[in-house]
Amino acid sequence: MVISVVVPCFNEEESIPLFYREMERVRMKMGEKFEYIFINDGSSDGTLSVLRKLHVTDSNVHYLSFSRNFGKEAALYAGLERASGEYVTVMDVDLQDPPELLIEMKQKLEEQSDLDCVGTRRVTRDGEPPIRSFFARMFYKLINHISQVEMVDGTRDFRLMRRPMVDAIMELSEYNRFSKGIFAWVGFETEYLEYKNVERVAGETSWNFWSLFKYSIEGIINFSDAPLNIAFIGGLLSWILAFIMMILIVIRTLVFGDPTSGWPSLMTVILFLGGFQLLTIGILGKYIGKIFMETKKRPIYVIKEKSE
Ligand code: UDP
Ligand code: MG
Repeated sequence: MVISVVVPCFNEEESIPLFYREMERVRMKMGEKFEYIFINDGSSDGTLSVLRKLHVTDSNVHYLSFSRNFGKEAALYAGLERASGEYVTVMDVDLQDPPELLIEMKQKLEEQSDLDCVGTRRVTRDGEPPIRSFFARMFYKLINHISQVEMVDGTRDFRLMRRPMVDAIMELSEYNRFSKGIFAWVGFETEYLEYKNVERVAGETSWNFWSLFKYSIEGIINFSDAPLNIAFIGGLLSWILAFIMMILIVIRTLVFGDPTSGWPSLMTVILFLGGFQLLTIGILGKYIGKIFMETKKRPIYVIKEKSE
């Protein structure tokens, strides 16, 4: 049985040899056959030449090299597409995903035949700026509240999947990819191993606060239409409010007279039209949301098993 190891790399010339050495050690221990698929995501350092050398010395090492930096999501997609193993794992090259865990992950999949995926989950966020941890926690609270897919706090992309789950992921060929959501969206039985956060061995993280923030917005927009509901509900509420105020203003004018002539009628018209406009923008938003989901062309369902 072959395990495909998909590894996106962006400026990781120092990490790759360390990663490879560690993985080979784990492979020997497991007595498995690995198929490495490194994706050079438009690195500007010596990543590609390191990969070329590895490919020459080990025929199980394959690489894809992008023409520019397309981002980790694109790299993952390319790697999964290329992976041919019955089992597929996705790993960071900086050893923040401890290779040792693969042994336990594989064992779990072998023991429990109804399990499709073993994922990993960081239970600590040591070595991370507190403000970032805070926002990460807020993000998970929010997304789990407004989205139908369940995303577990602290999960990594690091996971070992069976072939059917990988095939399902490839069915989601949407352009804006948010892997955490996609892994959750396809369903399948997943169990999480917990481990303490590990700091990267070499190089530097390519994520800063701003890029993470943008990434989280991506996640929210791709897996929830709650932001559109805000426009819809806000519009509806303000329209109802305008309607009530309109009646009140008319009654007040009729009962108490008209101290500033023209004000009541002007006010009611402004409130009414303003509320109505917000409401119709909200309705438009709902339809755009539907169009948005349709353009993704996601499968309507994912089958795990059939009788024949
Ligand atoms: N990566 C990538 N393309 C990018 C950014 C990152 O392929 O544009 C890779 C990177 O080489 C690493 C993994 O994605 O293997 C995770 O990146 P990083 O360690 O910078 O993220 P962090 O662990 O800090 O979330
Ligand atoms: Mg990392």
